[in-house]
Amino acid sequence: MLENLEKAILEIKEAFPGMKLLENEDMSRHASMKVGGPVRALASPSDVMSLSKICCILKEHELAPLMLGNCTNTVFPDEGLEDVFAVSTENLTKLFLLPDGAIYAEAGVSLAKLALFAQQNGLAGLEFASGIPGSVGGGLIMNAGAYGGEMKDSVESVVCYYLPEQRLYELDREQCAFEYRSSLFKKMGGCVLLSAVFRLEKGDSEAIAEKMRDYNSRRREKQPLDLPSCGSAFKRPEGYFAAALIEQAGLRGFGIGGAQISEKHCGFVVNRGGATQEDIHALLKHVRNTVYEKFQVELEPEMILLPPGMQLLDRGPAVPRHLINLNDPTL
Ligand SMILES: Cc1cc2nc3c(=O)[nH]c(=O)nc-3n(C[C@H](O)[C@H](O)[C@H](O)COP(=O)(O)OP(=O)(O)OC[C@H]3O[C@@H](n4cnc5c(N)ncnc54)[C@H](O)[C@@H]3O)c2cc1C
Repeated sequence: MLENLEKAILEIKEAFPGMKLLENEDMSRHASMKVGGPVRALASPSDVMSLSKICCILKEHELAPLMLGNCTNTVFPDEGLEDVFAVSTENLTKLFLLPDGAIYAEAGVSLAKLALFAQQNGLAGLEFASGIPGSVGGGLIMNAGAYGGEMKDSVESVVCYYLPEQRLYELDREQCAFEYRSSLFKKMGGCVLLSAVFRLEKGDSEAIAEKMRDYNSRRREKQPLDLPSCGSAFKRPEGYFAAALIEQAGLRGFGIGGAQISEKHCGFVVNRGGATQEDIHALLKHVRNTVYEKFQVELEPEMILLPPGMQLLDRGPAVPRHLINLNDPTL
């Protein structure tokens, strides 16, 4: 256990006596995959200034926070993360119209709420996001998308706190370097997303609502929403569909432990009961290897598996990224 982390927890508790700070919190309660053990601490600051101050205190102790949105794309290790201070954006939920008609949203606003707010204000372009269960912060990190829309299409600017420099930056869309299910923030690490501005087209509220209803009914029809998952397990490989390749490889319903390729939608890995991160990791590897052997197409996971024993130390110019790499032969 990290001694400096214990000191940082004490200091943060003193600085924010009223803040929700859970210790040794079981992350399977928070993650949509319902997998994972406890993190040492999970704080939910109620404003962006408090979040920045928490980051400063952690940095004084040579630590960085593990930022979490709605945990709908994140799988925690079974044994937990005893050296990690996690920060949830669940209470960063300011959402309003700016005088020029753009939407301001803090990182913790759910994508469903953002899409609904846009619809209620007769603004079109975020309909695709209404059924994605993530937050604005997580959605921007991942450049989440569906039905031909992506976060990058409507975001105008993003405010982030850059941990190595302890500085706020406002980035425009180009600077965010969005790519398919990726962004500058995802590639670089060390960026805490605080808020974003969305610029949308005027549209007819009822037509926007109808589009959202249509997308959501398609989701209910095609996706295994009754079982815990992270949505699509793999990114779409260029020129193919991951779900079709997995199906053609004969893997529909294939399971390892509690993790299973969904019977309903081969692009989803579901927790059919009692899945561990190890099961999910083994299943992703098996699927990737099988698909590669059959079709010579490499599948890249979309869901994020946090490595066991992870520590987020901030001792240098960059905070390391934290992902399990399926190519790592030692895992
Ligand atoms: C049923 C289901 C359906 C889904 N459908 C879709 C879909 O159609 N399209 C799609 O793209 N995705 C989909 N997803 C996946 C997921 O909802 C998205 O990737 C979403 O954008 C993740 O948001 P989150 O807030 O849950 O992120 P989290 O899982 O909490 O975090 C994701 C990553 O972002 C980081 N992060 C989160 N917030 C911040 C912040 N404020 N600052 C810095 N880093 C941060 C985390 O550290 C992590 O690396 C689906 C998931 C489920 C369960």
